Amino acid sequence: MDKNNTEQESYKLVSREYQRHNTQIAVKENIIGSKQFHVIAGPCAVESKGQLLETAWAVKEAGATLLRGGAFKPRSSPYSFQGLGEKGLKYLAEAREETGLPVVTEVMDVRDVELVASYVDIIQVGARNMQNFFLLREISKLDKPIILKRGQCATLKEWLMAAEYFLYGGNSKVILCERGIRTFEDYTRNTLDLSAVPALKNLSHLPVFVDPSHGTGKWELVAPMALAALAAGADGLLIEVHPNPENACSDGQQSLNLKNFALLMEDLRRLAPVLAREMVEQIE
Ligand code: PEP
Ligand code: MN
Repeated sequence: MDKNNTEQESYKLVSREYQRHNTQIAVKENIIGSKQFHVIAGPCAVESKGQLLETAWAVKEAGATLLRGGAFKPRSSPYSFQGLGEKGLKYLAEAREETGLPVVTEVMDVRDVELVASYVDIIQVGARNMQNFFLLREISKLDKPIILKRGQCATLKEWLMAAEYFLYGGNSKVILCERGIRTFEDYTRNTLDLSAVPALKNLSHLPVFVDPSHGTGKWELVAPMALAALAAGADGLLIEVHPNPENACSDGQQSLNLKNFALLMEDLRRLAPVLAREMVEQIE
């Protein structure tokens, strides 16, 4: 029995004891949690149809298997760009239609769950909402994969208990995503806890992704941490990419441009086979 999980009621369904084999989640032809290594890429925020489509085609060409883009943005300041809302969801659906890439976006409000679910393939719960238990409960009713970001100050146990809400509510298609935690270090935006990856693999059967963009806050650190995440045993990555990071409406300083993203994908493709992981070939 894992020491962190001694209270009988903490988490059960997400634990490795409950299920020995890894959970695999099918998203179109992709199987997340298998030998395949998946990269979810795209802009922090959907800003316009042109920006999203340009990014979508470029990340697909480079080998990403899923497209991300925020329509409802959890911004620290109310004066910052808040996202395009439903218009952003429509652009994501159009980008999926055109490129064939499944799409991922965040939902922040219980009232938007149905709306967001009607447009996207994977629902993202952001760090700030990891312990929004009413939101978790509402999302658990959907038959749709979920990516659950780690809370900014959440322990692994708290994170697993949050994931437990989904399985308890009937949705076991859950991907955990490490995105950095608050520490005393302020050179980086957050401290990316890569040890969480092998730790979660021991504690849980759920797939684990890493987001080195929010995890570092600096685009120069994204590629090295992405490669380290693959080496640490992650099942995939979530990476912010923008055609013009210096003019991005949000998180430009941590976004890779299209060229640097393509270079990272080449490195990942070289490293993956050494670690017995497969990068999925994009057909079409
Ligand atoms: C995001 O992925 O755009 C995001 C806001 O991430 P986080 O919730 O990890 O801050
Ligand atoms: Mn962002």
